[in-house]
Amino acid sequence: MGAPLDQAKRRVQRAIKRRLIPWFLTHQRDLPWRRNRTPYRVWIAESMLTQTRVDQVIPYYRRFLRAFPSIRRLAGASSDALMKQWEGLGYYSRARNLRAAAQIIVAEHGGRFPRNYEAIRALPGVGPYMAAAIASLAFGQNYAVLDGNVIRVLTRLFAYDGDTSKGATRRVLQSVADDVLIPGQAGEGNEALMELGATVCLPRNPLCAHCPMASVCAGYQAGEPTAYPRRSPKKKVPHKEVGAGVIVNRKGQVLIAQRRAEAMLGGLWEFPGGTCEAGEAMPDCVARELREELGIGVEIGDRLMVVRHAYSHFTIALHVYWCRIRKGRPRPIECADYRWCTIADLRQYPFSRADLHVVDKLMMARHVQLQ
Ligand code: SF4
Repeated sequence: MGAPLDQAKRRVQRAIKRRLIPWFLTHQRDLPWRRNRTPYRVWIAESMLTQTRVDQVIPYYRRFLRAFPSIRRLAGASSDALMKQWEGLGYYSRARNLRAAAQIIVAEHGGRFPRNYEAIRALPGVGPYMAAAIASLAFGQNYAVLDGNVIRVLTRLFAYDGDTSKGATRRVLQSVADDVLIPGQAGEGNEALMELGATVCLPRNPLCAHCPMASVCAGYQAGEPTAYPRRSPKKKVPHKEVGAGVIVNRKGQVLIAQRRAEAMLGGLWEFPGGTCEAGEAMPDCVARELREELGIGVEIGDRLMVVRHAYSHFTIALHVYWCRIRKGRPRPIECADYRWCTIADLRQYPFSRADLHVVDKLMMARHVQLQ
């Protein structure tokens, strides 16, 4: 780091203290996790906000805290109760990590959230960002956070054009964040930078005319704030064609299967099925998957619906068919468990977002029968 950069950092640090933090204290959004700030509430909020938008998180956050108001209640949660609270929020390992971490806090820290950064960092699901967020926001410790919003703001403030998809660039930015941190005001400074990124320093149309940092922003001064951050072009996202069956019995119940704990979406319930193989017709795929997963032979009826959904690393088209069992009794061969369930009771089980579309469709259907 040369002298000009050191000077720039000092200017930015001064501006954070004199302009950005006062701006934040006046303009911050009223978010539920900013009230009654305890380590537990900060931790739950930061877990939910990972890869998820604020407006999507708010109702989940309120519901989750009502269901599990303390670390001990979370540690003792059943898998279904936990996943039901997380249903539809995605990245379900976050929920499992929260409960595993709560159990560690009860067993090793007497049920009190640890203050020490290394102890926080050692909890399941807690990376450097979240540990710094909890240490600074909940305990007032001097740790700088680096999330997507802070990366965008810092690269613009310093007109820094390193490729932010690279680990080396992120290490440089973390050290810049550490250098501009204001000792004793780390929590406010961190939140102010994140808030600026979320509400003013927007990805495509930054509101520079309203920005409290404009006078020290190299990207703005150069007239090209949106040139930062620089990223290598995104790779094409793979796509999967997936088939699933709504298997109906004579009582009008439908069969749901629980995904194995170690699988993606582990612990959630689903309409059984799987990925279509190359050259395979979709009804044949559903019949094969149900044979492999549950040991049953089925008659495939009409297609009920197609659900399109994007996960973080791939997209799917889920083709759902009505089915009836013609041979065998279901056994949980490639799933953790299965249940026969009335349509009215489906809502008691946690499903992934894609399967929730199927649940909704069934709830709307007046008669469940092989079409
Ligand atoms: S001046 Fe513009 S580009 Fe710079 S930090 Fe503010 S909003 Fe972002």
